[in-house]
Amino acid sequence: MYSDVSLFIDGAWGPSAAGKVLTVINPATGDKLGTVAHAEIPDLDRALAAAEKGFAVWRKMSAYDRAKIMRKAADLIRTRADDIARLMTQEQGKPLAEAKGEIGVASDVIDWFAEEAKRAYGRVIPARADGVYQLVIKEPVGPVACFTPWNFPINQAVRKISAALAAGCSVILKGPEETPASCAELVRAYADAGVPAGVVNLVFGVPAEISEYLIPHPVIRKISFTGSTVVGKQLAALAGLHMKRVTMELGGHAPAIVFDDADLEVASKILAANKFRNAGQVCVSPTRFLVQEKVFDDFVGRFVALAEKIKVGDGQEAGSTMGPLANPRRVSAMEGFIADAVQKGAEVKTGGKRIGNKGNFFEPTVLTNLNRDMRVMNEEPFGPLALMVPFKSFDDVVEEANRLPFGLASYAYTRSVKTANAIAARVEAGMMSINHHGLALPEVPFGGIKDSGYGSEGGLEAIEAYLNTKFVTQASL
Ligand code: NAD
Repeated sequence: MYSDVSLFIDGAWGPSAAGKVLTVINPATGDKLGTVAHAEIPDLDRALAAAEKGFAVWRKMSAYDRAKIMRKAADLIRTRADDIARLMTQEQGKPLAEAKGEIGVASDVIDWFAEEAKRAYGRVIPARADGVYQLVIKEPVGPVACFTPWNFPINQAVRKISAALAAGCSVILKGPEETPASCAELVRAYADAGVPAGVVNLVFGVPAEISEYLIPHPVIRKISFTGSTVVGKQLAALAGLHMKRVTMELGGHAPAIVFDDADLEVASKILAANKFRNAGQVCVSPTRFLVQEKVFDDFVGRFVALAEKIKVGDGQEAGSTMGPLANPRRVSAMEGFIADAVQKGAEVKTGGKRIGNKGNFFEPTVLTNLNRDMRVMNEEPFGPLALMVPFKSFDDVVEEANRLPFGLASYAYTRSVKTANAIAARVEAGMMSINHHGLALPEVPFGGIKDSGYGSEGGLEAIEAYLNTKFVTQASL
């Protein structure tokens, strides 16, 4: 059952001071699911005071004890996975199997960061003088403000919270207003596992109001944001004005390069599965399929056949392999991209339309005959659109792959090790996955370059972002 979602401040669940709420909608039906508490300045002030107090407690706890609590949270999430998955599917739309997958990964993320908490090593630098010790010490940066979106209600939040907690920081999370209940269950697991009051706080409200208040606030020492490039640039600018540390995980427009020596069966299957996962509302979703001329028709034919096999439906129904888009604005965005492309000469190989008039269902769509003047070739579609573009030579495909200001994920398929090495070296992206889909594991870096942001949300780089480096040099008297 879906129930109304509260704020979590200073270890207690409750309404906002003014009692305001926002409505939560089921994207498969358009019906109201419940409400989420809407925080305003007095609630944020409470959260800030709690985060300051929580930080003082948590930073003093040994990494070993912090890790024990975090691992317990991971176990609680595993135990509660079925119930949390149902909430996530109701509010976000993705099929139950995908929701359960996301929750499984979240537990792994917490476990991995819990272990990494014990390894926030500093170092000793050999000194020039006898009796001098030069120490590099890692300390938690302080209370962190995190902002996470609706496409992965748990996974976007768990990476930030877990890295922060592992480092010894406290957190105020502004969760996703459209998908609050599953995100709240993540916070509940940390709380039930024994994270002290004030260490993790959860608020919802008007995103701009919350970020404009929290980012400049002196209690907050670091910002971590996942969302669009446009908003990311605004928040990074505000953080810069107040000299706050920042991690930005922003939009992408991933090139998926298929060379003519690739295994087309493997490439089409893996790329189609990843294109339509979460209805394409994924920052690392393959978007521009750059396919070498000789195999273009063959690859497109295979991809279209796979797209047409997808069963679009309510994520709660057995057999649905793609749910609705998470909100009506994504349906309008898809219609706008397709109309613009078709008007400029694109061909719709399959899909292209919304399905029915209830819920936000949209057909898996494949477009060909594309050119660089079309909006969809320049803006992140963030939906089930696959853009098929032929290329002639290695240099041509490098030029197209690097044409856009984005640089998040990239993919390549080839049987040649030489080509694999060369393309990995030339594509401007934070991540490249070759001949398989291997991104977003807890232990590997995850992040972008150029307009896709900076910083990492995986691997040891992710913890480093929540640590200050202090140098201490000490002579014996
Ligand atoms: P949006 O730009 O309004 O919001 C994106 C996210 O940023 C939301 O979670 C929102 O709450 C948050 N946000 C917006 N303004 C904010 C502000 N001033 N301060 C703090 N947070 C703020 O767009 P949308 O319609 O929700 O999503 C559309 C676009 O956002 C997509 O096309 C995609 O490019 C991007 N997006 C990216 C991711 C990702 O995983 N990188 C996730 C969701 C959305």
